[in-house]
Amino acid sequence: MYAVPVMSTDLAANLLVGALEELKSSFSYLPPADGEGGVRSDDTAAMVAVLAETAHRMGDNYPYFHPLYAGQMLKPPHPVARAAYAMASWLNPNNHALDGGRASSAMEIEAVREIAAMFGWKEHLGHLTGGGTFANLEALWVAGLVAPGKAIVASEQAHYTHGRISAVAKLPFRSIRTDTRGRMDINALEEAVAGGDVGTVVATLGTTALGAVDPLGEILDLRERYWFRLHVDAAYGGYFGLTSTLGPDAWRAFDCIGEADSIVIDPHKHGLQPYGCGCVLFRDPAVGRFYKHDSPYTYFTSSELHLGEISLECSRAGASAVALWATQRLLPLVRSGDFAKGLERSLEAARTLYARIGSDRRFLAGPEPELDIITWAIAASSLEESSRLAQQVFDRAAEQDLHLALVRLPVSYFRAAGGANIWSSAGEGAKVTSLRSVLMKPEHLGWIDEIWKRIDRATG
Ligand SMILES: *Cc1c(COP(=O)(O)O)cnc(C)c1O
Repeated sequence: MYAVPVMSTDLAANLLVGALEELKSSFSYLPPADGEGGVRSDDTAAMVAVLAETAHRMGDNYPYFHPLYAGQMLKPPHPVARAAYAMASWLNPNNHALDGGRASSAMEIEAVREIAAMFGWKEHLGHLTGGGTFANLEALWVAGLVAPGKAIVASEQAHYTHGRISAVAKLPFRSIRTDTRGRMDINALEEAVAGGDVGTVVATLGTTALGAVDPLGEILDLRERYWFRLHVDAAYGGYFGLTSTLGPDAWRAFDCIGEADSIVIDPHKHGLQPYGCGCVLFRDPAVGRFYKHDSPYTYFTSSELHLGEISLECSRAGASAVALWATQRLLPLVRSGDFAKGLERSLEAARTLYARIGSDRRFLAGPEPELDIITWAIAASSLEESSRLAQQVFDRAAEQDLHLALVRLPVSYFRAAGGANIWSSAGEGAKVTSLRSVLMKPEHLGWIDEIWKRIDRATG
């Protein structure tokens, strides 16, 4: 059992104490009211006990905050984001309406405007959502209203929710083949859009499995010739446009992201936010008419913008907007700023580890990383054996507190490393279980030697 700490060893907890006092002082004009949410002061011991038990339960998790957690797409929120979120939860504003959160709605509008400006948009319609899935749902819902009944297409490596969302929107969905680097195959896309029944193309800038960047420039060229709506799913990758060290192909794609009709980005992926923070942006504010039919278009660009009337969700945590606003205040979304430098460290971490894997004969490196995700298979005589060994390395690494991820990928992704004849008896479309590591914490760069040592031991 612990005592209620005055000073914590955790930075965010200490930041919170001061910020909360500041917030409470804004309301000191009110007559004192008993309790807080029905709390009696003599309940303290019970609350301490329950929280000790709760904290103990939370210990049954992977250590997501630590650089040796290098598996899935998980990044610790910034201390300022955690403190701001917890501070705001004392008031618990609801950004569905101005009455629910006047200040937090204004902060959402400002923070979202900064994200839109990052994509070069001076005008937009947009807001935060519970996450990337809901943000994509809104973008594709609008796309379906613009092009009723027409199909939505996305690459085979696009997030699996696009197919589901299309089903919810009652629109046909088709997958487009990828090249051997996991990017949308532009010839396959052209064949699809030439048919005339495609209403929306979803380009993924940073796929979830590989961090592959679809060739947005070429997709835009196709849009000149065949009409379709272009949605960019940059839930994971959207912030990388701020970096100065992308490879030429990825850079070309990020450089024209502002040409999209809509963009989704997840501040809770690479934007240092706690979960519950996605963002959808539309280039044309006039799509606001789909949300509220009896309002003139001007309503949606007026300063009286009411977030609840341009969002499919009703109640949303105002605390998410407060945390995002505070984080962007500390770390503005500018090229080559401190935030961008953190992303550049992740890019370098991925390239460094990829180079070691690529020069080790025990491994077959996957596609060269475009962002901060790497994949590799285990060299073995058959693809079944390779899959089995990948699982074994995954388990043995975890025993040494190194947490990796597993992903099933087309065998063709490993031909560049393993040669054209690798596992040639496997049929077209065969997949192999391979290892995957998302090196999305800036600290990962300083841990590559240690991570490599543990991969080496786990591989044997
Ligand atoms: C994570 C992700 C999503 C889904 O977002 P959630 O925030 O998990 O709902 C969609 N698309 C891509 C590319 C993603 O990486």
